[in-house]
Amino acid sequence: MVIFKKVADMQSWLMAQGRPVGFVPTMGALHEGHLELVRMSKRDACLTVASIFVNPTQFNDPADLEKYPRMPEQDAALLDGVGCDVLFLPSVEEVYPPGVDLAVRLDFGSLDKVMEGEFRPGHFGGMATVVNRLLDIVKPQKLYMGQKDYQQLSIVRDMIRQLALSVELVMCPTVREPDGLAMSSRNLRLSAAMREVAPVIHRTLQWSGEELKTGREASEISREAMDKLTEAGLRPEYFEIADGITLLPVRHYGDSESIVACVAAFTGDVRLIDNIVLR
Ligand code: AMP
Repeated sequence: MVIFKKVADMQSWLMAQGRPVGFVPTMGALHEGHLELVRMSKRDACLTVASIFVNPTQFNDPADLEKYPRMPEQDAALLDGVGCDVLFLPSVEEVYPPGVDLAVRLDFGSLDKVMEGEFRPGHFGGMATVVNRLLDIVKPQKLYMGQKDYQQLSIVRDMIRQLALSVELVMCPTVREPDGLAMSSRNLRLSAAMREVAPVIHRTLQWSGEELKTGREASEISREAMDKLTEAGLRPEYFEIADGITLLPVRHYGDSESIVACVAAFTGDVRLIDNIVLR
């Protein structure tokens, strides 16, 4: 695996290879979920580039940015182990050259207003900006992202459409621990007690799907789901049963062809998100 820190060095190296590129953007502290994205790209016979960049512009909480786990050497070894071809490890100045305005200012309609958009103001603007900037640097044919961040994926899909970018977005199903907890870099910060409680998030998502199929109203199920999480000792911010395309709330199972349940909850000071596709 070749490691690059400079845009120009990586670009000339990639150009010389002359092969289609698959790109896996990450913020590091890698786990099986990230590695699965790399494996997917390799299976598609792509020259695979993973980036590790903790993007300051998508953190609305400076303390969260500060506490975000960083372990580039361990990450590099993991990527090498699954056959990743290139690791891009840029500095903030390399991604955002001083004095250059690279901000993506698109109208995403409802997509960036609901759920994460409501609780993390500015997050999706920063996320869209960094993904667009990294796509411009790497120029991949395929972009691999996880269903774990369903709303992020919806916004990136819409950005690709609006900017007519020539990249194919490939979604990777959420990789989970054996007890159902979605793998996340933030899980590293869970205490033993919090780690034991956290799988209630996935169990509650599954429960909501069963309830919705019985004909119950979604808002009532969501309220009860919030109560279940609170009773388990978590602090849920939202639990939404939403249309899988518009991300707006649905009322009943029959209302849409595509339905997703999404949740964000704190365990201690660690904020976890998860979702499942119900239909
Ligand atoms: P992050 O490093 O958290 O920004 O995530 C980088 C990429 O990995 C994003 O496309 C995430 O959706 C994806 N990802 C994170 N966790 C998982 C998981 N448990 N399963 C599948 N993909 C994931």
